[in-house]
Amino acid sequence: MTATLIDGKAFAAGLRARIATEVAALKARGITPGLAVVLVGADPASQVYVRSKGKQTLEVGMNSFEHRLPAETPEAELLALIERLNADPAVNGILVQLPLPGHMNEAAVINAIAPEKDVDGFHILNVGRLATGQKAMVPCTPLGCLMLLRDRLGSLSGKRAVVIGRSNIVGKPMAQLLLRDSATVTIAHSRTADLPALCREADILVAAVGRPLFVGGDWIRPGATVVDVGINRTDDGLVGDVDFEAARKVAGAITPVPGGVGPMTIACLLANTLTATARANGLPDPD
Ligand code: NDP
Repeated sequence: MTATLIDGKAFAAGLRARIATEVAALKARGITPGLAVVLVGADPASQVYVRSKGKQTLEVGMNSFEHRLPAETPEAELLALIERLNADPAVNGILVQLPLPGHMNEAAVINAIAPEKDVDGFHILNVGRLATGQKAMVPCTPLGCLMLLRDRLGSLSGKRAVVIGRSNIVGKPMAQLLLRDSATVTIAHSRTADLPALCREADILVAAVGRPLFVGGDWIRPGATVVDVGINRTDDGLVGDVDFEAARKVAGAITPVPGGVGPMTIACLLANTLTATARANGLPDPD
């Protein structure tokens, strides 16, 4: 058996096309969504992400505001910029690219963003809202994974899900989203005992570990749906956290790396910006 490939690239393109249509409809009413991205320092991977975010923001018809600050910028200066963006009606979404330089308090910076403009969904209020079932901004990467899972499986109700990784950016919000969809969720991490056996119980396996080819083919339940969040740069190019070649022989469906979860993240950022714009204007959430 060979697993079905979950084509995140195509799904993300479709999502961006739907967003572009909604943006055009908003513009006809005199509303142009705007996304501000703040980059502090010159981390090469962050620069690549920020560039593609800006490009894709413009492609769906939104305004893109880029703010690049030197690595040595004092935290107070960054907080002052965030305050200005919070107050700017042309800005519907604010994203501060992580990681921040070591002298900055990441939590303080993220929590300075107005929660309704926090399109990354990392503000403590959005985290709490998601956890308590209230209307929240949901982190982009797990939101993208959820969309792919729903598209593949329909209802997730009653499915056994294992999420490997407990970061605030991926693992924890992924688990919350699966729980919200009534999956039975286990979160695994570096201290989990007998991880392969735990994974073999999963109908849905999400790997967000950051270790190349970490999840072996024999960890996978036959027919399971495998979502590989990992992006690891190796001498052989980009690889995921899952041993793709081994896993695809066992899984029912699997996301490739690249071309799986990766493209969904920015598409979901644009979706969140659209949602934030609709809410700011008293309109219903887009579908
Ligand atoms: P973190 O480093 O913040 O978290 C990694 C998690 O994996 C931790 O919870 C850690 O456990 C766990 N882990 C590490 N080693 C093991 C092990 N041996 N066994 C079990 N669990 C382990 O990473 P992120 O969540 O930020 O990212 C995860 C991956 O996803 C990375 O490859 C990253 O590049 C990628 N990524 C991809 C995105 C995309 O757009 N597709 C977006 C964001 C991330 P513990 O907590 O115990 O240390």
